Amino acid sequence: MTLKGARERRVRAGGVDLCVVELGDPGQPTVVLVHGYPDSKEVWSEVASRLADRFHVVLYDVRGHGRSSAPLPLRGGFTLEKLTDDFLAVANAVSPGRPVHLVGHDWGSVQGWEFVTVRRTQGRIASFTSMSGPSLDHFGHWIGQRVKRPTPRRVGQLLGQGAKSWYVYLLHTPRLPELAWRGPLGRRWPRLLERLEKVPRGDYPTASLPDDAAHGAWLYRDNVRARLSRPRADAYAHAPVQLVTPEDDAYLSQRLYDELESWAPQLTRRVLPAGHWVPRTRPDRVSAWIEEFVTAVEGGRPEQRPTGRYSDRFGGQLVLVTGAGSGIGRATAFAFAEAGARVVAVDRDTESAVRTAELARLVGAPEAWSETADVSDEQAMEKLAEKVHTELGVVDVLVNNAGIGLSGGFFDTTSDDWRKVLDVNLWGVIHGCRLFGRQMSERGQGGHIVNIASAAAYQPSRALPAYSTSKAAVLMLSACLRAELAGQDIGVTAICPGLVNTNITTTARFTGVDAEEEARRQQRTARLYGRRNYPPEKVADAILRAVARDEAVVPVTPEARGAHLLSRFSPMVLRALARIKPPV
Ligand code: NAP
Repeated sequence: MTLKGARERRVRAGGVDLCVVELGDPGQPTVVLVHGYPDSKEVWSEVASRLADRFHVVLYDVRGHGRSSAPLPLRGGFTLEKLTDDFLAVANAVSPGRPVHLVGHDWGSVQGWEFVTVRRTQGRIASFTSMSGPSLDHFGHWIGQRVKRPTPRRVGQLLGQGAKSWYVYLLHTPRLPELAWRGPLGRRWPRLLERLEKVPRGDYPTASLPDDAAHGAWLYRDNVRARLSRPRADAYAHAPVQLVTPEDDAYLSQRLYDELESWAPQLTRRVLPAGHWVPRTRPDRVSAWIEEFVTAVEGGRPEQRPTGRYSDRFGGQLVLVTGAGSGIGRATAFAFAEAGARVVAVDRDTESAVRTAELARLVGAPEAWSETADVSDEQAMEKLAEKVHTELGVVDVLVNNAGIGLSGGFFDTTSDDWRKVLDVNLWGVIHGCRLFGRQMSERGQGGHIVNIASAAAYQPSRALPAYSTSKAAVLMLSACLRAELAGQDIGVTAICPGLVNTNITTTARFTGVDAEEEARRQQRTARLYGRRNYPPEKVADAILRAVARDEAVVPVTPEARGAHLLSRFSPMVLRALARIKPPV
């Protein structure tokens, strides 16, 4: 294994020789990482290197995998009881006097559930983080309940998971898996992983893959049928559990975990927009969640969980919001903070950005920062992007919200007026997407960009040529960027609010009139928006939902939704409405 500072040792357990690797200071809490199928410990190399600064990190090759020896005979050598013996032997060798924090992926997690629910490991496991691998006992009960009391929904769930388990049936056939893995499948697997699961090439998979996969078929044969048909009735977790569920897991349905609280009362849920191999595709997020959870358990705070809606999705994520000093931007910063995100509040007005960051901390953000920047100033945005990257890392969610209003007929709108509105509303969004989007793209671990457009983007109006043009451009930019970044798991959403009660009405400019008339129109618009009284908090809620669901275009407010429908099915009506002269 090519990890810096890795120390290798052998541990003898139940007739096999296990290859164990340690990183970091043994005086720190021990985190044991258990790999899945068809993997070896190298699947964890990216996560392990990120955790080694803070913890004593231990990885081992499961019996028959990597550089650990295989049991003889193979049949019967991979039962969960024997795998538990192996885990206990490793835990006793690397951390004799102190319980370990267990982390499992795929079959490593299936094993982890066994370890954390059997009595003989009690006191040896401080916490368990599970990724993409259910307890076979819980799974057995899940199937049993649906077979005994079938409803259309439950039958659908059974069929859905049944279809996702196609490979499990194949692995039960004699000799075929061994032939396939030692033949063409083994050769093609790295390329398949790259293409289907977007797993970047590196020190993984290793050359031992064909043998690992052939031996590992016995994990299924020795355990699956027996446990699913006769699941243990007492499979309760005796340590706090963190469940990380990838939303796009091709092999496991999220529904499998619906009733998990009854088996694991101290449960923290996390959701990731990713496929099955998260230790390789999302090492930053996975290691951050492990670090947070282990630190909380070590500090005696296992029950502490963020309580806001979407906290399982955004907890610990880095979110940057522009124009966060007021209105929709401020409400969005608070909504992410309530979901446990770390928030960077950016505004051209320092004081309001500072206030937003302070309040964000109060409502739930574990950390919040304020930054002053004018989004239309390219150099200022470059500096901001560099600073955030160096000090805080890559932004997971970017909300390009800062914008200004401008109302007035085309011939009353000067070149200078056009420049101002396009500089902020369009160029501000371009700078944000280019600078922070590039960082997301280079990191290669997904992300999300939200651009605040407007219903004015698709609803023409004789009174708003410059504003509507800027917002239509933002809508189109978002659609183009969404197409370009889709292959990198970076979502792009355009939010199109209608009339929302914010300060924009008092700061919006009205062209072609003197200052007194402009002030009068601002007051009148503010009154109108006040009477309409659609709160920015509802827009913020729509933004979090749109990111969680990866929606492309989201009209918010009934009038924005109505206009959106008309723009698709009856644009003539919208064109007629656009001619109506606004009241003066
Ligand atoms: P808001 O209450 O005026 O908030 C906008 C914030 O952005 C303010 O704090 C503002 O600071 C800041 N800002 C303006 N220009 C900036 C720049 N160049 N650099 C950095 N920060 C800047 O307005 P809002 O209604 O929340 O608007 C947010 C977004 O929603 C805008 O893009 C707007 O076009 C869009 N939108 C609003 C509505 C609505 O009805 N309110 C409808 C559709 C779309 P200052 O206070 O110093 O200007």
